[in-house]
Amino acid sequence: METGISYFGNRMQKHFAKDLLDIKKHNCTFILHTCSEADQAYYGGTLKELVKMTHDAGLKVQMNSWAVGGTFGGEEYSYFVMKNSSELQELAGGRRLPAACLNSKKYRLFLKGFIENCLSYGIDSFFWDEPHFYLPWNIGDKPGDYGCWCPKCKKLYRQMYKKTMPLKNDASVVAFREKCMLSFLKELAPVIKKGKKENGICVLPSLMGEGHAGTDDWEKIASLKDIDVFVTDPYWTMHLGKPGFEVESFVKENTARLIATAEKFNKKSGIWVQCYRLKKGEEHYLATAVRTAFATGARSIGAWGYGGAEHMSYLKCDRPKYSWDLLGELYKECQKKDN
Ligand SMILES: [Zn+2]
Repeated sequence: METGISYFGNRMQKHFAKDLLDIKKHNCTFILHTCSEADQAYYGGTLKELVKMTHDAGLKVQMNSWAVGGTFGGEEYSYFVMKNSSELQELAGGRRLPAACLNSKKYRLFLKGFIENCLSYGIDSFFWDEPHFYLPWNIGDKPGDYGCWCPKCKKLYRQMYKKTMPLKNDASVVAFREKCMLSFLKELAPVIKKGKKENGICVLPSLMGEGHAGTDDWEKIASLKDIDVFVTDPYWTMHLGKPGFEVESFVKENTARLIATAEKFNKKSGIWVQCYRLKKGEEHYLATAVRTAFATGARSIGAWGYGGAEHMSYLKCDRPKYSWDLLGELYKECQKKDN
């Protein structure tokens, strides 16, 4: 049984040493260290130290592509986007978006370098964190604002479909996006395998991509030969209160679909649960999520993020310590049941 926590917002080794003991005490077997473009620019050597400290403590290390290029999940800005205005996604009306186009050769080349840097830090597993085309809710734009209609995409679409790319999100545009995402992953995943590291990909759960992300066809992604671990993260707080929404069935359906897809292609699977933005009195949903994922067959469970994200006001739980301690107890419970 693998149980993990994401770690971000601190690059001071002496503070991490203290947190590491706390993480072990909360029954974690791995840490996902986030890695942003700023981390690679300024903290490469430091990350190497954090990875070594994690290994020395007996825990495995995953590392993600944190908000890189505006095309992955995470609370960070992209330097690539700031420096490369000609490589950005565009809305149908032509407005440039704060996200790189997944069909940009320059962006793919940049990501190869990014991944190689992560591998050089000594990690065990690279974690593709929710790769997606631009999503409107991501940066607070209005519904319907999604990409990509940039000149590169329009040219590719014309080559594939022998017609002009429509300005509406019809079925061909949705299918086009999925093809582009597959080509993107196919080109980059071998970089991780070449480094002889485990390659995990976390796709957005149902209710999140809504046909815009490019990752709705899970089977196609899980079937890629260079993917080792197939993962999703059914975080629930943003859906609470929607008619008919239930945390238990949301987690159960996503976990069951995930495990079935992973097993079909002989891949490992992983589920992430939410230990951030939990409101006072709603922490019981964390127990529901962990227990449901475990009962549905998940044997690798991660949680976002360390300490109930107490240090990040944007993500923190109302009662961070309470949530974090609850997670530790739930992990202990799962490990005991798994033995
Ligand atoms: Zn594009």
